[in-house]
Amino acid sequence: MVMKCIVYKYKMKEPILKGEMLKIVHKRFREPLGTWERVLGLELKELKPSGCSYTLTTTLNLPRDKNLSDHVPKTGLIMSLLIIIFLAGYSAAEKDIREFLTCLGSLLSSVNPFSHNQTYVDPIRPVAAPSKVPRSASRCHPPDVVVWPQNVDQVSRLAALCYSQGVAIIPFGTGTGLEGGVCALQGGVCINLTHMDRIRELNSEDFSVVVEPGVTRKALNTHLRDCGLWFPVDPGADASLCGMAATGASGTNAVRYGTMRDNVINLEVVLPDGRLLHTAGQGRHFRKTAAGYNLTGLFVGSEGTLGLITSATLRLHPTPEATVAATCAFPSVQAAVDSTVQMLQAAVPVARIEFLDDVMMDACNRYSKLNCSVAPTLFLEFHGSEQALAEHLQRAEVITQHNGASHFSWAKKAEERSRLWTARHNAWYAFLALAPGYKAYSTDVCVPISRLPEILVHTKEKLKASGLTGAIVGHVGDGNFHCLLLVNPDDAEELQRVTTFAEELGRRALALHGTCTGEHGIGMGKQQLLQEEVGSVGLQTMKQLKVMLDPQGLMNPGKVL
Ligand SMILES: Cc1cc2nc3c(=O)[nH]c(=O)nc-3n(C[C@H](O)[C@H](O)[C@H](O)COP(=O)(O)OP(=O)(O)OC[C@H]3O[C@@H](n4cnc5c(N)ncnc54)[C@H](O)[C@@H]3O)c2cc1C
Repeated sequence: MVMKCIVYKYKMKEPILKGEMLKIVHKRFREPLGTWERVLGLELKELKPSGCSYTLTTTLNLPRDKNLSDHVPKTGLIMSLLIIIFLAGYSAAEKDIREFLTCLGSLLSSVNPFSHNQTYVDPIRPVAAPSKVPRSASRCHPPDVVVWPQNVDQVSRLAALCYSQGVAIIPFGTGTGLEGGVCALQGGVCINLTHMDRIRELNSEDFSVVVEPGVTRKALNTHLRDCGLWFPVDPGADASLCGMAATGASGTNAVRYGTMRDNVINLEVVLPDGRLLHTAGQGRHFRKTAAGYNLTGLFVGSEGTLGLITSATLRLHPTPEATVAATCAFPSVQAAVDSTVQMLQAAVPVARIEFLDDVMMDACNRYSKLNCSVAPTLFLEFHGSEQALAEHLQRAEVITQHNGASHFSWAKKAEERSRLWTARHNAWYAFLALAPGYKAYSTDVCVPISRLPEILVHTKEKLKASGLTGAIVGHVGDGNFHCLLLVNPDDAEELQRVTTFAEELGRRALALHGTCTGEHGIGMGKQQLLQEEVGSVGLQTMKQLKVMLDPQGLMNPGKVL
């Protein structure tokens, strides 16, 4: 082993506490370098402050037999090192990847990757999924390389380079997607956008904000905390806002505030060949437009198959004057869903209305230490003035009682509400905790509200008959729900039964004039259902759009179409 010392210099705008600086270093340095740090034995040694500058010293243990050529430019040392070391294990058939990586390395070193704004390359060897596992439920395929660009110019140059070399590009937000969107089915370069995490512009008076792709919804709402505004689209997970735009995400607040489709005003997109597109015109953030085709709408929900979203202009909403949450338990699934439909038909202005079946309530009670009845339950929330809230609650209570509900309880204090909604958001983890070692598979369908009772009751019956362990949870105010199914990932037969159950549920939703996905997207597993949903002309039109923007089919191949 040869010991190498590598020194990084960070220059901050003003001096900050060493502890804070260490946090930044850990965030910017340790996480992304996880893989090669482990492989090469990189250790952080020392952090020395001097005014606004911080010098970070590290040591790197290099295997002696790796030939680090002297001609490698200093700024590109680590990059080229990685490429050499990792490629030492590649076979001759992977010569093309070697050449490509050499180009990539020189491109990145030419943008000075080791200044304060660092850019990393982290090659990972691809592994194949077991052949018998259904595609939608197979393990994730890693890419050949992961790159963390720092700005739109680097994204654009990376895309152009990949395109000129015919290498697949997989955009990565925070990886919380549930349809295998970030799996690198053909290998290629994963462009991880988490380091581009600035809030570029806040236009409070116009209720809009411009965010880079690494900004998550929680980070944005923390930033907005003191200005009386918030961004309500809430998929539970702390996903990146551009990833949410890419999947057309929604969540608990959609019944009142809409989905990403309703809340994205403009997108900056790096097209597959590296060109930069502003879907609604550069810098524009209007409330409405009738100018030409809706390019913003085209990219919302495109799941990384048409381009890389490098910033999003989002619609903000005033923080509600007052908020109250409520829960109520029902004697049956039918009674809970009938109440939902009646509340919507009576125009009771709910901000959130979530359904959890008895299995899910049991899991949440155990996991989040709640003390709710183990029965089909609605979680509700209302936003408005104090006076209006009292009236809305009363109307909701009358409807639920009419359907036999018990235990209608309010939560007005912020801590009580937060406890309830945290439990709801942790439902996925609560369900997983029922069977340690198992994985969960989430279905996602959406039907017209009037058909919701029918499909939910039917699904519950099918679930019982299937012998699978499953729970239902849903944003029922939109007609959208998920059936979560426990599955042993090593049991191919069980995986097959789970996928078949999910496919049948998708078809049932289509038969009721609904959609096979309300919010998770098509990803790898729902391509057949998409075809059945939009028909052959619909699918052909989508394919023509794809070919026009991505003629080589390199943007997130194997997804959506
Ligand atoms: C516990 C849990 C609960 C969830 N609940 C909900 C829910 O209620 N509602 C809901 O809608 N979703 C939900 N999800 C799914 C997930 O959070 C959303 O799909 C989210 O929008 C994904 O964002 P991401 O940043 O993690 O994207 P990723 O998972 O990183 O990527 C998802 C897809 O978008 C593409 N992509 C990501 N970023 C970009 C970009 N900048 N440019 C172009 N393409 C990009 C990727 O290539 C991939 O195809 C949940 C997930 C979990 C784990």
